[in-house]
Amino acid sequence: MVGLLADKVAIVTGSSRGIGKAAALALADVGAKIVVNYASSSHSAQEVVSEIIANGGEAIAFQADVSNATEVDDMIKASMEKFGRIDVLVNNAGITRDTLLLRMKPEDWQAVIDLNLTGVFLCTRAVSKIMLKQRSGRIINISSVAGLMGNPGQANYSAAKAGVIGFTKTVAKELAPRGVTANVVAPGFIATDMTGDLKNTEEILKYIPLARYGQPEEVAGLIRFLAADPAAAYITGQVMNVDGGMVMH
Ligand code: NAP
Repeated sequence: MVGLLADKVAIVTGSSRGIGKAAALALADVGAKIVVNYASSSHSAQEVVSEIIANGGEAIAFQADVSNATEVDDMIKASMEKFGRIDVLVNNAGITRDTLLLRMKPEDWQAVIDLNLTGVFLCTRAVSKIMLKQRSGRIINISSVAGLMGNPGQANYSAAKAGVIGFTKTVAKELAPRGVTANVVAPGFIATDMTGDLKNTEEILKYIPLARYGQPEEVAGLIRFLAADPAAAYITGQVMNVDGGMVMH
């Protein structure tokens, strides 16, 4: 896959840490110039940029809250000014505000919907204008098994992640005539900061046939395939799980 994305540009939202970081490094590995988006971890984002540059690639860090339309537009503008095109968008930034339904405050609901669903809409809308003109592009949206099967304590998160799936299928249909694909990657339990605080690990492992958490690089491998491989040009509107067998369709 070496060089498959040479001269191509990828924006990975929330790529200062976790799955986004692994995706940024994997796409840089196949030659893409990377926009490393982050919300507040400027040091970590800069480290990702430094790692890409040290490996002979090109990257910039860009702070933007992707739930804010103005900040998203500024990020897309800066990416175009720096690199002149956008070929891949990975909508990865996400948060959780877990609590049971009866205790969930409207602000817990709204914060999760704003970033995990509205943020995906804002970034996709902004980037699709450019991809439609280019007549090519790959959009990869990160959902979750919670969006497919529900998860107690995650009504807000499950709703947002299920929303991402419906959104992606519509985008896939709207953009297909111009050669732009849109797919969903739905991870299960992946070892990142997001799952670092979970206490009921033994209980969780009972539901994972492969009986372990996944690694960010294992999700990034599928993202790289969808973003870079010529064979992925005929895949659109699909939901693919990287979950150790938790959800079997
Ligand atoms: P993580 O380690 O908590 O990292 C979250 C990333 O999102 C960070 O880079 C963070 O930036 C960024 N971010 C947070 N708020 C943002 C905002 N308002 N605007 C832009 N960026 C923002 O998360 P992760 O576990 O890698 O998860 C990545 C994605 O996979 C999420 O969509 C998550 O829902 C999904 N997912 C994760 C798992 C899992 O088990 N880990 C399972 C299924 C789905 P800062 O560093 O600046 O805060």
